[in-house]
Amino acid sequence: MGGGFSGLVALVHLCRAIPSGTFAIIECHPLHFPGTAYGSCDSEHLLNVPAVRMGPIPEDPASFHLWLETQTPGKFRADAFVPRALFGAYLTEFVADEVARSGAHVSFVRAAVIDMHDAQSHVNLTLDCACDAADAPARPQPMAARCVVIAPGLPASPAPWADHVHGVPAGALVPDPWKAGALLGIPPDAGIMLLGSGLTAVDIAEGLRRLGHRGVIRMVSRNGRLPLPHADHGEPPMLATREQFAGSPAKVLSVLRRAARQRIAAGLGWQGAIDAIRPHIPAIWKSWSTAERRHFIRRARALWEIHRHRVPVQVLADITAQCAAGTLIIERGELVAVHPATSGTVAASVRTADGATHVHTVARVINCTGPSMNLRDTRHPLLASVQRNGLACTDDLGLGLRSDDECRLVGTNGVANPRIVIAGALRRGDMWEATAVPDLRVNAARAAATLVALLADQHSKANI
Ligand SMILES: Cc1cc2nc3c(=O)[nH]c(=O)nc-3n(C[C@H](O)[C@H](O)[C@H](O)COP(=O)(O)OP(=O)(O)OC[C@H]3O[C@@H](n4cnc5c(N)ncnc54)[C@H](O)[C@@H]3O)c2cc1C
Repeated sequence: MGGGFSGLVALVHLCRAIPSGTFAIIECHPLHFPGTAYGSCDSEHLLNVPAVRMGPIPEDPASFHLWLETQTPGKFRADAFVPRALFGAYLTEFVADEVARSGAHVSFVRAAVIDMHDAQSHVNLTLDCACDAADAPARPQPMAARCVVIAPGLPASPAPWADHVHGVPAGALVPDPWKAGALLGIPPDAGIMLLGSGLTAVDIAEGLRRLGHRGVIRMVSRNGRLPLPHADHGEPPMLATREQFAGSPAKVLSVLRRAARQRIAAGLGWQGAIDAIRPHIPAIWKSWSTAERRHFIRRARALWEIHRHRVPVQVLADITAQCAAGTLIIERGELVAVHPATSGTVAASVRTADGATHVHTVARVINCTGPSMNLRDTRHPLLASVQRNGLACTDDLGLGLRSDDECRLVGTNGVANPRIVIAGALRRGDMWEATAVPDLRVNAARAAATLVALLADQHSKANI
């Protein structure tokens, strides 16, 4: 379920292992749309991971860069941040080739999975086949599967204006900036407010400029901080062992700060210290109690995110130049009300960190707050349904769905379901670091391997 990176890569592993198998990818968006990251970007939105580390198969991380070399020899360095759309094109081609080579029977079904029940020997799904037609009544259809990979990504955060809207024209509020056409039709000189100042806000601001938008863009966020830049090309990496990062969040962060300072003193970027801890994050996260995880999220997450989720230097340079020119403003605060104003604009009130309230007249308020941090009361039909019927439960903080080390979904009874695995960022509660391709490709491989082992076991029992 889900035809983004994780679902497609799990499919490749399944086809390789079971070429006689029959598989279906169920995806509510068109096929050439491999998830939000690589399907709904414009041609200049850049990857934030170097090309040489974006390969979808763990044993072959450089495969994407090798493909780039066959398409445009010498154009992109191995450590370059290349357009995301290129990665989307590569992924689509890679999956189609793998499926064709394997001989497996694969169908792509354009539908949303809205409900799911375990029937012991198989899993019953309900699909909504009208998911692509806005406002069309649901067209539910049943489907049965022997095994399931759940890979729907994370639902977006609920729009932060939910309680603050007073008779505002619907088009002025954009809950999902990645939806096709979401940024079209804005008067080029109008003011725009982006809620958030992280990677999504930076992407949307850059995308608006490429569409010719000249008006002032105002980013509003609680911390008012932009993501930090990647290090210079070609810096030597820092190596670190798991043992170096033992203890509570405060201890781990203090070791990390020391390592970053040492790199700076040696004339290198602090970024190497963050990259060195990354492979150990799932183990560190697992070693923390719920209280420690909560403490990390409350006290350190905002700072962690801007250091961990970085942007290419050239993107940040462009954003900084806009700030200097006054065409982009970053405001620390939160949206408290939206009222209709003249000529289709809205008056958006922001309460700033010092307690003052400022009113800005803008043509659009755009939700750039990223994925939801709480799946407990999600409105995502599938994620709500699996929790309601006991097939799944969230981790203690509600960050993701619980799974065991083999990616098997853990139900409310605490038992791992042998037929249902999860892949992608839904594993965030168990691992914390389940966001980018270098982590997700390992996850997708593991989820597929779990199902392959189950099917092999069933097959051998049937043949006894
Ligand atoms: C804007 C953006 C830029 C990013 N840039 C990078 C980057 O440069 N490098 C990097 O490594 N990572 C990047 N990421 C992280 C990115 O999320 C992962 O790399 C990866 O794309 C996630 O894949 P996924 O399959 O787990 O989830 P998604 O890509 O979200 O795919 C999930 C798919 O499931 C579908 N779906 C959801 N619910 C249902 C349902 N009920 N029924 C059927 N289908 C459903 C969705 O339509 C979607 O296509 C970026 C993320 C975003 C949002």
